Amino acid sequence: MGKKRLAILGSTGSVGTQALEVVAAHPDLFEVEVLSAHSNAALLIEQAKKFKPNAVVVTDEAKYKEVKDALLLLPVKVFTGQKSLCDVVQWDTVDTVLGAILGFAGLHSILAAIDAGKRIALANKETLVVAGELVMQRAREKGVLIIPVDSEHSAIFQCLVGEDISKVEKMILTASGGPFLGKKSNYLVNVKASHALQHPNWSMGAKISIDSATLMNKGLEMIEAKWLFGLQNEQIDVVIHSQSVIHSMVQFTDGSIKAQMGLPDMKLPIQYAIAFPYRVHNSYKRLDFKDFPKLTFEPPDYKTFRNLAIAKDAMFKGGNAPCVMNAANEMVVHAFLQNKVGFLEMSEMIEKTLEQVAFIEHPTLDDYKESDSEARIFAAEFIKKSQLSIY
Ligand code: NDP
Ligand code: MG
Repeated sequence: MGKKRLAILGSTGSVGTQALEVVAAHPDLFEVEVLSAHSNAALLIEQAKKFKPNAVVVTDEAKYKEVKDALLLLPVKVFTGQKSLCDVVQWDTVDTVLGAILGFAGLHSILAAIDAGKRIALANKETLVVAGELVMQRAREKGVLIIPVDSEHSAIFQCLVGEDISKVEKMILTASGGPFLGKKSNYLVNVKASHALQHPNWSMGAKISIDSATLMNKGLEMIEAKWLFGLQNEQIDVVIHSQSVIHSMVQFTDGSIKAQMGLPDMKLPIQYAIAFPYRVHNSYKRLDFKDFPKLTFEPPDYKTFRNLAIAKDAMFKGGNAPCVMNAANEMVVHAFLQNKVGFLEMSEMIEKTLEQVAFIEHPTLDDYKESDSEARIFAAEFIKKSQLSIY
């Protein structure tokens, strides 16, 4: 395998920092060409000093001077603003773009990278939730391979190697169930962000941890799988598997099921995505079946965890519905993290936002941008009216 030159977008986040751990463990295989952060200037500077990329982008313009001054004596170009992200991912010196920015904000740089024919390692699931049809269409036109980083989709991708996609009957996404597995509404009504952030199996960024607690994460992943693998809605299933050892499964037309397994560690799917098609040796802890004498499976509780049902409905409805839902979800999760809305209120506000924004069956990129902005305005209104915001 030749040395891969990476643009790591969102390098200061949970996925980004783990990607840099993988890079640091294999300096012979990976080289960092670009790093990006939004506002965490201190960590971006530290990363730039250690990995010596050709360029860094700090998208928050207020942080530009701090980063520029700190890196003055190093041969590292410093840029700011969202447009710069779209420029640097197109450089000839970049082979692979790891999309690890959070939320809708990650969409444009991924589209720019696809337009330039770059290989994509995609963690930013919201890109596919919002505009999956358009993103995959562009990738097909440009002959670009999108390799998932999300552990479930990495598992499915790995199960599909060497298989004929037309022989897939269904895909079964596993879900840990999050920290509130088995709880009912009377319990959930009182939970706070500090409880919801305590994921039993995975260590992740704040937003995705809350999405895991509400099961919105699994809803987003159903939509992500639909576009990534070109599935019909009916072919996507979810099963609760609280040990997070089976990362997902594919069932074929002969009834055979393939599963991909391993300990829950994001470094594994990150490494697989950036090294693909090569498997690279590492010394991370191995799965020992004796530590997991019982693997359990149960159906999700759609009634209590309404976000999963909302996301499934949005997937079936299509058009701009997943985009609107995603924008509302980003807003309410942000508010929940600041204790401005309650846990169960999040679903109500997402549903109400979906009722307010006009449905567009075949959205363009501009339609997605407008739907996203409009949904954020409605969601902000609902958040302001929350009892927790008022007091
Ligand atoms: P984090 O919140 O930990 O990190 C987000 C990264 O994106 C940071 O580098 C942040 O910069 C940057 N960022 C945030 N907002 C913007 C913006 N408006 N413009 C540009 N950059 C921005 O998130 P995670 O690493 O947890 O998740 C990243 C993506 O990967 C998400 O889409 C998530 O769903 C997906 N994912 C994450 C997994 C995980 O284990 N964490 C697993 C599977 C998927 P700064 O630090 O400066 O704010
Ligand atoms: Mg996942």
